[in-house]
Parts: sequence; structure tokens; C-alpha cells
Amino acid sequence: MSFLELDNLRMVYPDGTEAVKGSTITVEEGEFVVLLGPSGCGKTTTLRMIAGLEIPTAGRVSMGGRDVTRLRPAQRDVGFVFQFYALYPHLSVRENIAFPLRAAGESDTAIQEALDRVSRRLGLAEQLAKFPPQLSGGDQQRVSLARAMVRRPAIYLMDEPLGTLDSDQRLAMREFIREQQQELKVATIYVTHDQEEAMSLADRIVVMDQGEICQVGSPTDVYDNPASRFVAQFVGSPGMNFIPGPTVVGIRPEHIIPADNGPIEGTVAMNEYMGSHRFVHLDTDPGRLVFRAAIDFDTQPGTKLKVELEEEHVCRFNPENGDRVP
Ligand code: ATP
Repeated sequence: MSFLELDNLRMVYPDGTEAVKGSTITVEEGEFVVLLGPSGCGKTTTLRMIAGLEIPTAGRVSMGGRDVTRLRPAQRDVGFVFQFYALYPHLSVRENIAFPLRAAGESDTAIQEALDRVSRRLGLAEQLAKFPPQLSGGDQQRVSLARAMVRRPAIYLMDEPLGTLDSDQRLAMREFIREQQQELKVATIYVTHDQEEAMSLADRIVVMDQGEICQVGSPTDVYDNPASRFVAQFVGSPGMNFIPGPTVVGIRPEHIIPADNGPIEGTVAMNEYMGSHRFVHLDTDPGRLVFRAAIDFDTQPGTKLKVELEEEHVCRFNPENGDRVP
């Protein structure tokens, strides 16, 4: 039995919007699962049904073997982290972070230990005596994350918790979330539309589109063996290249290789410098292809060159419905 089981979960809002069309997902104890998909695909609605903030139209949510579908949030022992998480302005940073532990009746020693650990990891040790209005937006976000993660609930539910941070802070917080989650071994469901965040954090990724689950798998499964053209395009930056035909051929940028006798000829349209590598945009008869090249491959726009595809990495898709074909 898995820790969390979503069985054919469906949500139709009163205005008729079918936000979630029958999701079945299991999450193991201590597992980190990311719900990934474009805006409006039903990620937040799924999370809210797990939290007890929405009652599903149909289907079942069970946690630890108990049917919680109709229980209130407080009866589920959920740690919820939102993108915008209000802090108590009249409490110091120290008291904000300690709040859930005090409410749970933890001892002063346990609270001090948890505060030390979390504030050190998040670089908040110097800020503990301050009050939220005295902090920058990024620091407030860190305090709210610290407050949410200082306690060990049955499950963490996180809805784009890093949305407002700059890229340095996002990396630091990603590390914190993963380390803290692994240390406490709490099952976690994390919602994002950022595929890089999903790849770096997840044990398993659930890719969603238009209220439906497209694929569930480890980051490598989803990246190397996408179940559909949608997944292949959505995961990876840039996404997979597609070459139209009776079956659509898909190939990732790192599996297109410049070769003097390559079968595909094209003209360089753009050469993007990425610091550690380049993305070369090549206009070919079947369309635009983007391939990854070494940093010294500084071919100028207008140059003609030939490329080949690494056959063992080619994926094929049905041109009608985008499904993967053998
Ligand atoms: P985002 O990343 O933009 O938050 P999401 O994947 O989390 O998107 P949801 O917020 O779950 O998607 O929304 C799924 C669909 O349900 C969308 O079409 C949205 O407009 C709709 N929806 C969400 N809440 C309601 C509501 N209270 N009433 C009616 N429709 C809603």
C-alpha cells in the first residue's frame, strides 16, 4: 500500500470547468513527486483536493490507508506551502518559524534545535530578531518556507513555492527543500510549471495537460522516453526537435551531430552562446532544428552545414494524436 493514493480523482467546478479528469496517482512514504504542466492543466486543483481545500466531484483520496476524501484540512496533517505565504507581522522571524512547533506543543529544546538547523541552512541566522516588514521579499519567502518545513507533517504540499524568487535564491531554496525533505523523509507533492525545477527535485514527475495525466516517471524516464509529443516538447529546454513525416521523428538537441556527410543539410539561423555550450538553430528542408554544440563551435548565421541524428536516441510519434509509437 502506498502512503498517498489518488483514485480516479475528478473535479468539475460549478461553472462546468472540468479541471481534473480522473487522476490516479500513488506516492510512497518519503517520496518527492512533482506535478508538472502548463498553466491551467489542473495542478493546483489536484493539490487542493489532497489538502482538503476542495472536495472532489468524484474519486477518492487516501493517506496512510485512511480515506480522507471528505475530511477537513486540519484533520489531514498537511504542511502546505504557497507561493505567497502570509507571515505574522507582529511576531519576530524567530517566533514566526517556531510558531507551528509551539502550536504542536514541542519542548523549548526541540524548538531551539529546529530553529538553529533551519535558520542556518536558509541563511536566516542573522535575521531571527527582525520582524517581517523589515525583511526583503526574498527573505520573507525564505522565512515562510522555513516555517512550513520546520515541522514534520504527514505530507508536504507545495504550490510553486519559489515563484517570486530570483534565480540564485531559487537554487539555494531548491537545495534546502530537497535536503530538508530527505532528512525528514516526508512524502511531498510539489507543483510547478518549470520543467528544470521538476527535473532537479523529483523522484517522480507527473506530467499533466488539460486536466489529464500524460506520463508518470522518473526525471530520466520522462526526458529520455517521453510518452507523447506533448511531454517531449514540454520537458527539456529547449524541447525536443520534431521532423514531420508518416511518423513524426523526435530528437533532442544533444543527439543531433554536425557531420560532413550528414543526411540533413541546413543553414545556420542563430548561434546561441550559453556559457558552457551553444545552441545552434539550423533551418533545414523539414523545418528548424536546434542542436547543442561545444563552446568553440562558433559558426556564423548563414553558414551551410550538414548534420546527422543519433539513431538510437530517435523517438517516433503518431502525427495525428502525438502518441509515442515504437
Ligand atoms: P496555474 O499554474 O496557472 O495555477 P494549474 O495547472 O494549477 O494552473 P488549476 O489552477 O488547477 O491549474 O486550474 C485548472 C482549470 O480549472 C483552469 O481552467 C482554471 O481556470 C479552472 N479553475 C480553477 N479554479 C476554478 C474555480 N474556482 N472555478 C472555476 N474554474 C476554476
